[in-house]
Amino acid sequence: MDQQVYLKKLEKRNIKPTAMRLLILKTMMQLDRAVSLLDLENELVTVDKSTIFRTITLFLGHHLIHGVDDGTGSLKYAVCSNECNCSVDEQHTHFYCQSCHRTFCLKSIRVPVVQLPDGFAIQSINYVIKGLCSECSAHNLIKPV
Ligand SMILES: [Zn+2]
Ligand SMILES: [Zn+2]
Ligand SMILES: [Zn+2]
Repeated sequence: MDQQVYLKKLEKRNIKPTAMRLLILKTMMQLDRAVSLLDLENELVTVDKSTIFRTITLFLGHHLIHGVDDGTGSLKYAVCSNECNCSVDEQHTHFYCQSCHRTFCLKSIRVPVVQLPDGFAIQSINYVIKGLCSECSAHNLIKPV
């Protein structure tokens, strides 16, 4: 993808573009799934861990990325679409593949918003579906039983 795309994304979220921020954003977008800090550290072996952590914290604060708790114990992160403000009614479903252990954003599938009892106020929804991703279920089909 063109460098301009990443520059624009940072600009839109009022984040000053630096070479490091561009690199981390680019890596996250190219992986095309939700990644943990450890995943990023493994992708970016030359980058200092604390730099990755600080950059992710900054990205989160500016709604450039969102956190995903997929139940594996390590929080994952994925890049938000341009219009996203990370409000409850904008949240989408996440999918955790129990075979390849990857977590995906299903951006076109909104989370179901339920009616809460009086006095309860919603702040976020964590909606994770677990199963087999399309690649893994295709593998399963061709595997002899
Ligand atoms: Zn968002
Ligand atoms: Zn899979
Ligand atoms: Zn997501």
